[in-house]
Amino acid sequence: MTSPEFVRVAPELGLDRLFDYRIPKFLQGRVLLGQRLRVPWGKREILAYAVEFPRKPEVEKVRDVTEVAGERPLIPPGLCQLARWMADYYACDLAAALRTILPGPVRSHEGGGKMAWWISPAPGKDELAAKVLRGAKAQAKAWEHLQRSGGAWLTALVKESGMGTAVWRALVDRGLAERYEKRYVRDEEGPEAGWPDAGKKPVLADEQATAMRLWEEERKKEGGGRPVLLEGVTGSGKTEIYLRALEAVLAEGRNAVVLVPEISLTPQTVARFRGRLAGQRVRLCVLHSAQTAAERRESWHEIREGRARVVIGARSALFAPLENLGLIVVDEEHDGGYKQGESPRYHARDLAVVRGRIEKAPVILGSATPSLESAYNADREKYFRIRLTKRVDGAKLPKVQIIDLRKEDKPKTGGPVMLSAALRQALEERRKKGEQSLVLLNRRGYAPSVQCPHCGRVEECERCAVPMTYHRSLGRMKCHFCDAEKAAPAVCPECGSPQLKFTGAGTERLEEGVLEALPGVRLTRMDSDSMKTRGAHGKALAAFREGRTDILLGTQMIAKGLHFPKVTCVGVVGVDAALNLPDFRASERVFQLLVQVAGRAGRGEIPGEVFVQTYTPFHPAIQFARHHDVSGFQEQELEYRRAHGYPPFKRAILVSFSGPSEAQASASIRHAAARLRNLWKGRVEVSEPGAAPIARVEGKFRFQLFLLVDKVPELMGDLKREVLAPKWPTGVRATIDVDAQDLL
Ligand code: ADP
Ligand code: ZN
Ligand code: ZN
Repeated sequence: MTSPEFVRVAPELGLDRLFDYRIPKFLQGRVLLGQRLRVPWGKREILAYAVEFPRKPEVEKVRDVTEVAGERPLIPPGLCQLARWMADYYACDLAAALRTILPGPVRSHEGGGKMAWWISPAPGKDELAAKVLRGAKAQAKAWEHLQRSGGAWLTALVKESGMGTAVWRALVDRGLAERYEKRYVRDEEGPEAGWPDAGKKPVLADEQATAMRLWEEERKKEGGGRPVLLEGVTGSGKTEIYLRALEAVLAEGRNAVVLVPEISLTPQTVARFRGRLAGQRVRLCVLHSAQTAAERRESWHEIREGRARVVIGARSALFAPLENLGLIVVDEEHDGGYKQGESPRYHARDLAVVRGRIEKAPVILGSATPSLESAYNADREKYFRIRLTKRVDGAKLPKVQIIDLRKEDKPKTGGPVMLSAALRQALEERRKKGEQSLVLLNRRGYAPSVQCPHCGRVEECERCAVPMTYHRSLGRMKCHFCDAEKAAPAVCPECGSPQLKFTGAGTERLEEGVLEALPGVRLTRMDSDSMKTRGAHGKALAAFREGRTDILLGTQMIAKGLHFPKVTCVGVVGVDAALNLPDFRASERVFQLLVQVAGRAGRGEIPGEVFVQTYTPFHPAIQFARHHDVSGFQEQELEYRRAHGYPPFKRAILVSFSGPSEAQASASIRHAAARLRNLWKGRVEVSEPGAAPIARVEGKFRFQLFLLVDKVPELMGDLKREVLAPKWPTGVRATIDVDAQDLL
């Protein structure tokens, strides 16, 4: 390949527009993707990133790149390619994709601070060291020291060991150690100091050992093998597989990214990784949304410079600037949190697969309840499926009882049935035995709506077309879409009737019901309202783990990745609302939630029991969950999806228009739809656009066009041109969501 003649760059301080330059002779071959360059800019010079190599520049007069800044690309080339892929697939511009990958704090404050030497052992050099260091006593001692520390500032090494700089330089010269110049950070901790070594590694169960063998075989294949779908029931030891895989690639000197759905809700998982890595002398970097700009910048450089070799975090951690990637893990791959809600609307699980392909890194997607997209990919062998069917501790999966609410007596006080007799009794028994229970209701607040029994009027948000939720703790009504609040009216504003009714139940009301039914029970409510203050979530979990609480009641927060050995009873309340949402994934989501939360019951000796209260006991999502039948559910649900041409058989693209004027938003989307229909005649069906299920949010009227297509990329040009590019009336906003997850 001849080296490129032109380069397209994104200016460091404003990635918004891209500019073309010529690569002068003396720099040819030295300009890599992601490299920082000095380029002329008017009469000045600026720094910019090389993001593409166009065959021909977009403008006639191009100026020459002045110089290459830094030895290697600041953005790893693999991530530049990923940005390109994102821009093409998710219909955003390259600049937006780059901004996602290279966070603001990293761009704006690059450099600064004192530079110093960092020395780390070169991986895989044990044999060489044994050979060449035989006669060199001091160097052998230094090598040993370096091995133990895993890497340190040169100044610190000299101080700790009492050996001068010459000895360390000799190790570098012999290729046994690596030396980088980087910005000096004062409070350098040792590799994960302070974390207890998680102790002995467990002996793998038979299924786990088989899984490891299969994984090893697959990843040796070309390009890191196919992505592995690790489908294992809760408690089957999936996390242990991630840890082993991680150890294997670290030992080879390669690095890894581990994605978890929500970092703040998975402290136990993070602690396990830390504990295991403590024994490996490898630094791990946890990325989370609570980090300050400075911390984020620090983490980024720490990763880029190779000091942290394992990165754990939520979806954006996928963009960790690691090189030499040996593993990408996506835990709970079915989780909706992997999809970004605003542009670029990427799905981190799908991008993980793409990044793995670009960097030839093996990918593991793990779940007890895989998404139908992944299940389908495994069925047709695009992914390689590995199953874990048994719980490690030998515990049986809990027995699931379906409680038919149609047969339940209505409470005499009026109001909804919250606790069935069977669930009440089960909770009571567990408390007497000193065992614990979880109660799940995925709806916060006291009552989802306030209605006048006389005229039927429901209190709606003024800005959104949704009922307002009554929050008893606030004594007010709140809109869950825009956070607007108002006082609950004393009389019906429509007909003046004084008796307003709370319909349905949220966690606050259920809490009240449980406390009434079981006086004196020690209950903690866990939802985003009750866990607002910093540290509240951790405290509540600790209290529960230590047995100071009998019942943990809450939203899906309680269903995520937690292990409590004393939980033997799980109650699930209010699944019907979720089943009835106008979304083709409603069934899948309910099934996943039921299986996940059921997996929290019963560990070891004591078997668990699960109670699901519903008005639709024969719904397939409920029946398959009852039998823990993941394959059965996948099969039936895939059949339904195939029949309707829904994902994973087609790709769903949601085109949305919104604006303060209903007429304008509606006319704009109809105009776009007509143009697309014309362009795609006979190729793609374009139905009539309609109002979104939630027709108004924050005062903006919303319209949608739902497209089911075979392939995304070939339609993207048309979509961008007809939807994003036109100048719509003021206030009208058009968006494209590829592989849309949120259809409301
Ligand atoms: P999953 O991720 O599938 O829910 P985990 O890896 O968390 O499963 O394993 C469940 C529990 O079993 C954890 O407490 C873990 O420490 C333990 N465990 C995992 N593998 C083994 C093993 N081979 N031997 C003993 N205990 C194990
Ligand atoms: Zn009324
Ligand atoms: Zn609102």
